[in-house]
Amino acid sequence: MSDELLKDVKRLDLIRMERLLKIRDTRIDFATNHHRNTRDEPMQFDSYPHIRAVYNSISPEIVLQGSVQSMKSEWAVIDHFAVAYSGLSVFFVIPKYEMRTTYVQNRVNRAVQNAQKYKDIIGAGFFDNVAMKSFGKGVVKYVGSNVLADFKEFPADVIYVEEVDECDSDNVEYALDRLRASPYQFKRYVGNPKIEGRGINKFFKESDQREWFVPCKECGEFHELDWFETIVESIIDKDGNVVTYRLRDKEWEEGCGVDVKCVCPSCGGELDRVSSEGEWRPQNPKSSIEGYHISMMCSPINAIAMMWKNFQTSIHDPLRLQQFYNSYLGLPYKGVGHRVTDHLLDQCVDTDYQFIVEGGCAYASADAIFGPCSMGIDVGGNLDVKISESCGGKRKAVYMGKVKNFDEIDDLIQQYNVEVVVVDSMPETQLVQDFQDRCEVSVWLCRYGSEGTDKRIVHQGARRIINVDRTNVLDRAFSALKARKVILPANHRSIFKGGYVDEMCGPVRQTTEDAKGNLKYTWSKCKDHQRHADVYDMLAFKMMDEMVIDDVSVG
Ligand SMILES: [Zn+2]
Repeated sequence: MSDELLKDVKRLDLIRMERLLKIRDTRIDFATNHHRNTRDEPMQFDSYPHIRAVYNSISPEIVLQGSVQSMKSEWAVIDHFAVAYSGLSVFFVIPKYEMRTTYVQNRVNRAVQNAQKYKDIIGAGFFDNVAMKSFGKGVVKYVGSNVLADFKEFPADVIYVEEVDECDSDNVEYALDRLRASPYQFKRYVGNPKIEGRGINKFFKESDQREWFVPCKECGEFHELDWFETIVESIIDKDGNVVTYRLRDKEWEEGCGVDVKCVCPSCGGELDRVSSEGEWRPQNPKSSIEGYHISMMCSPINAIAMMWKNFQTSIHDPLRLQQFYNSYLGLPYKGVGHRVTDHLLDQCVDTDYQFIVEGGCAYASADAIFGPCSMGIDVGGNLDVKISESCGGKRKAVYMGKVKNFDEIDDLIQQYNVEVVVVDSMPETQLVQDFQDRCEVSVWLCRYGSEGTDKRIVHQGARRIINVDRTNVLDRAFSALKARKVILPANHRSIFKGGYVDEMCGPVRQTTEDAKGNLKYTWSKCKDHQRHADVYDMLAFKMMDEMVIDDVSVG
């Protein structure tokens, strides 16, 4: 590099550094002397000791990967004001154009209303609307990530991306083009992670990956506040599968009046969550991007007991566990590769009963008294049927079979005293509707809708149709097996010459990418008729049991 060029580079570095120092000073001034949150309260750093460092940062590129209520959006509001006030142009991306008005009014305008300092600064400006705002010598343009047309013709010095995981990922990349002409090119990414290596987690992985460390009260050693290293330990079965978790703090019990302790991995003593010596330690120090992973555990305001309570109800449910990781721990969830296993099915066995196994069907002994029963039917080349009865609230299998037509189904309904039937509405729509029309018991047609996006189960009572999210109901049926809410006969492995086990174990929980590059969770498709018959049977059983699913009345 020539001397002249070197001088230029140094001058540029100096310009950027001066600006970053100015932004930091303004940010600290705004936060400590002027800003009030949406509840009109001043900033509270004592309850959030970990957040100070983010206000003191002079990094050109900052990534905040956080749980809910981690104060990251508050920081984004204050920081983007400080940046604009220093005279820079800010390109601020939020997930959707449709939410821009709400976002700007609730977060940005409310902050302005609550602080005289901001009002004075805005008062002198030229624009003040939901699309564009002058703030001091700078300007902010707010855009929705779904409207690419808004990404043109705004030369920016700084880009902000809020709720990265909800944004259109291709367009987030385009936003970088706005910075090309600027000597500054500062970047900020803020979000609650969803999927490993995507969204905010992609940016966090490129950063120096700071984790919050606190000292042990006994041995003084510093440890990361990691849920699995300091709060819970896993209980593993002989095959190496995690069966459940228990607290590392053995003395704690519900109602004991104190919070669950964070246990020191070195000495078993207690980690000091509220220590004023807590510090961020980079796990990837070679990166020049500052990345902060903020879990609910970082703030002493969040009780570990509350987190433990939620965690316990999530252990066997991939969807809830995903929410716990994302919303509480501020981590992406790796819940892929889940599948029903031989071992899981074995755990559901009641050794006191066996099925009589014939070629295309298997059933409990004829002299057992049945009923009332639920029935699930998957429609394919055959009709795959599963019938269950309630046994202490658990769903006990009494019949599994592959039958040829709906006349045979009528016989089974009689024979097993079936009360509610849920049947796949595809692909034989007309055939299934005819069956529904003539059948004397309650028959519901089930439609699989979008995968991995909608958690609701919606009943259209008049037409007896249930709309469900395919990923969601396959998750629920999987959780039911893990929680042993299903009872299987001792000889289930011999049903359909092993075909039952194969069909149950076939689908794998995975991530799939849509045309826009967004990821979602799905269960893979394969020869899996009995897995779906089990899902439909589960839905029928729930309706029979409660006549209500998830507080949605069945009419
Ligand atoms: Zn210790």
